[in-house]
Amino acid sequence: MIPTKENILEQSVQYLKSVGPKRAEAFKKIGIETIRDILFFFPSKHLDRTTTVNSSKAYGYLMNGYEGELTIIAKVADKEIRRFGKREIMKVQFKDTSGYFECTWFQGAKYFYSVFNEGDFFAVSGKPQISKYGNLQFIHPDFDRISEDESQNLLNTGKIIPFYRIPKELREKNIGDFSLRKIISYAVENYADHLEETLIPALIEGYNLLNIKDAVKNYHYPETREKLLTALKRFKFEELFYLEILVAIRKSNYRTKLPGHSFKVNSKLIPDFLKTIPFNLTKAQLKVLSEIKKDMESTYPMNRLLQGDVGSGKTIVALIAMLIAVDNGFQAALMAPTEILADQHAKNIVKLLKPLNHTSKISGNKNLIKVSLLLGGQSKSAKEKLRISNELQEADIVVGTHALFEENVKFKNLGLVIVDEQHRFGVAQRARLQSKAETPDVIVMSATPIPRTLSMTVYGDLDVSTIDEMPKNRKAVKTLLRDESRLPAIYKFILEKHNDGYQSFIIYPLVEESDKLELKAAETYFNELKETYLNKLSIGLVHGKMNWKEKEEAMQLFLAKKFDVLIATTVIEVGIDIPDANIILINDAHRFGLSQLHQLRGRIGRGNKQAYCILVTKKDFVNEGKLPFKDLDVNYMSPSQIERYKTSIRLQSMVKNKDGFKIADLDLKLRGPGNIFSTKQSGFPDLKYADIVNDISLLIEAKSSAFKLIENDPHLNSEQNKIIRQNLLKNYSNNLSYARIA
Ligand code: ADP
Ligand code: MG
Repeated sequence: MIPTKENILEQSVQYLKSVGPKRAEAFKKIGIETIRDILFFFPSKHLDRTTTVNSSKAYGYLMNGYEGELTIIAKVADKEIRRFGKREIMKVQFKDTSGYFECTWFQGAKYFYSVFNEGDFFAVSGKPQISKYGNLQFIHPDFDRISEDESQNLLNTGKIIPFYRIPKELREKNIGDFSLRKIISYAVENYADHLEETLIPALIEGYNLLNIKDAVKNYHYPETREKLLTALKRFKFEELFYLEILVAIRKSNYRTKLPGHSFKVNSKLIPDFLKTIPFNLTKAQLKVLSEIKKDMESTYPMNRLLQGDVGSGKTIVALIAMLIAVDNGFQAALMAPTEILADQHAKNIVKLLKPLNHTSKISGNKNLIKVSLLLGGQSKSAKEKLRISNELQEADIVVGTHALFEENVKFKNLGLVIVDEQHRFGVAQRARLQSKAETPDVIVMSATPIPRTLSMTVYGDLDVSTIDEMPKNRKAVKTLLRDESRLPAIYKFILEKHNDGYQSFIIYPLVEESDKLELKAAETYFNELKETYLNKLSIGLVHGKMNWKEKEEAMQLFLAKKFDVLIATTVIEVGIDIPDANIILINDAHRFGLSQLHQLRGRIGRGNKQAYCILVTKKDFVNEGKLPFKDLDVNYMSPSQIERYKTSIRLQSMVKNKDGFKIADLDLKLRGPGNIFSTKQSGFPDLKYADIVNDISLLIEAKSSAFKLIENDPHLNSEQNKIIRQNLLKNYSNNLSYARIA
């Protein structure tokens, strides 16, 4: 390829100084083919004076009980292999200006002997210890070689040195710390100035960002720590901005490309219905209802997220929306994640509609709105299928599981789709149900409150309605955190409360290894309690190996008070309402996520008695959530200490917080976004630089500029937005096709 101004960065890395064809092959194996690719291969860390300590300081930390990682820059003073019978141990003595320390390898002695040569400088990182002779020592530390100059620069002039992750593919071709730094610094010096800008000037100036050339240069070789942070900020902003551009495009496509229904809201229907229910809607319910009504009346298709804590009363709001659709001669579908829940919804809706005398426009049935239940996995003969399909044609409201979007399921005139527990379905699934009709209105409901950061990204294309108030008749659930040794007393409490008419759930975490194990564990708990502490009570069992009918039966028996106690392995996470179940005992509570615990707690407290949620866990986790080392920074805690600390905070926060939104935010912070949602399912790109928990303010800015931009120029046709259009087509083409689905 003859390099021109346009393709100079598309040249193979082989043309870089000290690369060549063989090393280029190695780079290719790790996904680096062009000079551009190597410019974006950023360091995994930087070392400077502020991130290293000297050996005497390290010694002091250890004497104070410090257990974490440290980095020391030092020179190899001596090395030796010691032999103990057949075993060989490699030891290196390091020296820095403040003293000596030692590194030990119990394996690969010969190899390490060849790596460390007297007089060479290294940055050694790991968790040091004090040996039995009182020396500072590292066992199997990480190390990066640096030159004497680099070490001088770093320690004396405060220069910052990049360190790159070196995959084995590169090591095999003799590319180590030195040579990789050389190759990259050569590339940065000679080619970074050829990078084309991918953000428009208005953004760069408006948010005080580095331009792409300076950002790349400073990410590799920052002049100062601050410059490094501004370089990082630019890449974070850029990726959040493009994420939000995709969100904005998805939203704008949905609103403008597709014609929606415009429902008439009959002025009598809703007041008539409200007269038949035994309570008044809360202010929050009325507020979201009016938002939904507005959407249904407008010609835009509705695409709305309805969120509210467990028990805040989303179903009744959904039902009213369905009634509006039905009143306009359309069918409405409600999709639930499990069969038990679908069944409960169907029964509940039938009960609520009973007093309403309304003639169906779909079937013409007088005084009857027809509700149909559609579940998967039922035995379906041809005759059965025909019956179902006929029934579907006559139903006003169809409730079901994901069976609703099976191919052979045909609706008559589907105008509204409601998805309960949205987080369990992906965008693609949602799109499939929507494709069953010409742009039906869509409401997705979530009982797991969605933290603001997520509602701005993964769910950012939806309008959001929030029920932020509980019905007045609810008593707050009392939450207690207890260690395992207290179980006998807790069982006694369950027995006593049983005399006051209480029923109890006892939850065990899922045994994940195998179905067989889970079954065995569940049965063991069941038999043990039945024969010991709770032998005076009747106990039921639900576990993951049961089919939905068996689970349903157990639940029904519990509801009918045939059981006093129901033992369960998480399958009741979303389950039916049991008014007298006012105690939930959750074993090994530390093994559940916060949102999951909150969901479980939401199963109780539906009646008017005081309800109790008892979290049982290991003694280690039942402390006050204090830092184990008061005077040391969290940064200096060992990973296991941090885990213990986080778990403890997590459980404490369940005791303190009743508000699902607060809990969800905290859950996101503690577990990190990766564990809570997968961007894959959402069709949005993975984030490489930013993280939506810690970069929230940047996210807000990126969103506001992206949405403004798409509002003013939905197709990015204007000259000034050309850069954005081109960059989208070049780097986000997969995500763009997703943006068009919705
Ligand atoms: P969720 O939001 O968790 O889906 P539900 O819709 O199942 O909650 O409502 C929980 C319970 O509260 C139901 O039994 C429902 O009938 C009742 N409920 C709903 N709204 C109110 C209200 N405004 N006042 C009293 N009870 C209500
Ligand atoms: Mg619900």
